[in-house]
Amino acid sequence: MTPAPFLPFTRPLIDERTIAEVGEVLRSGWITTGPRCQELEAALSERLNGRPVRLVNSGTASLELALRLCDIGPGDEVITTPLSWVATANVVLAVGATPVFVDAEASTRNIDLRLVERAITARTRALIPVDLAGLPVDRDRLDAIARRHGLRVIEDAAQSFGARWGGREIGSFGDLVSFSFHANKNLCTAEGGCLVLNNEVEARRFEKLRLQGVARLPDGTMDVEDWGSKANLTDVAAAIGLGQLRRIDEFTARRRALAERYFARWDASLGFDLPPDDAAQHGNWHMFQPLLPRRLAARRGDFIAAMREQGIGVGVHYPAMHLFSLFRRRGHAPGDFPVAEDIGARTVTLPLFPAMDDADVDRVCTAVAAAVAALD
Ligand SMILES: *Cc1c(COP(=O)(O)O)cnc(C)c1O
Repeated sequence: MTPAPFLPFTRPLIDERTIAEVGEVLRSGWITTGPRCQELEAALSERLNGRPVRLVNSGTASLELALRLCDIGPGDEVITTPLSWVATANVVLAVGATPVFVDAEASTRNIDLRLVERAITARTRALIPVDLAGLPVDRDRLDAIARRHGLRVIEDAAQSFGARWGGREIGSFGDLVSFSFHANKNLCTAEGGCLVLNNEVEARRFEKLRLQGVARLPDGTMDVEDWGSKANLTDVAAAIGLGQLRRIDEFTARRRALAERYFARWDASLGFDLPPDDAAQHGNWHMFQPLLPRRLAARRGDFIAAMREQGIGVGVHYPAMHLFSLFRRRGHAPGDFPVAEDIGARTVTLPLFPAMDDADVDRVCTAVAAAVAALD
């Protein structure tokens, strides 16, 4: 019997039509920002309730430039969760502001909104909620807190493209909403991202922040009015995104079906904590992340190795970031955010991507049981 092929924890699905369209861009003579980017911005805007959308070359750039758009800088504080990709806090440092972490809640693994108001000070300027694994933060409660305290909201929706809150798609409402189109995200352009903005005035300012501060004047000349970064997307990448956007709803439906199969097939006696029940939130199942049983928490590396020996890739998204050296140097220590630390120490990301079939889920479940038996 030939061994089953390696099953990674995720893999982008780029169809042949999209590959041909990328080829057309490469042959066209115009490969950087151009018509494909315009088309993708228009298509995203149409999907997101007509709101202005501007592409950039990463989700990180989108978040950092969103902070600059809000004039957030030295002396300002920005509240976020320690359970995210480190980009979420790095961008706050990049603009010279201070990231202020608030613990996660065990039920959703997202920022604990009950603790946010206690963290607000006279210096707080914005909230950056993160929809971990594509499960939306409660937008009604979040927006109420922001309104009450006059704060901007920069949604780090890097993982939640296609997810919904209260029947409305993430990005179609709210203040500033940032998506990532990194290869691992539900909609990818290899690398890329976008910001959803409130109006055309903001969008034009963002365009300058995105590309060297350049403003195109009506008479065909240009001016450089302010500092700007270099964060424009290429048409090569946008062509991938257009192909992904055609199929995103199909991809999301497939992810949901695979997640449901995990729930149906999972052996509860193993002692894992399964991801939150998603019935009310309509997440997009960006990832499927059980938490290891507490008795195995210190042996996550052994668990991952035992899965790999069975041909299955397992990721860790994420250790609680305040325990990274960068944030320990800024004064954080174990015990600061116990819920995030517990989740971060036990989380494992199992394979979930649209090209998987049902038998792959069954194979993962069998392998998990074997790995646990080997460790116990
Ligand atoms: C991926 C990700 C980012 C960063 O996006 P890039 O496109 O990789 O720069 C930021 N925040 C979260 C929560 C992410 O998952």
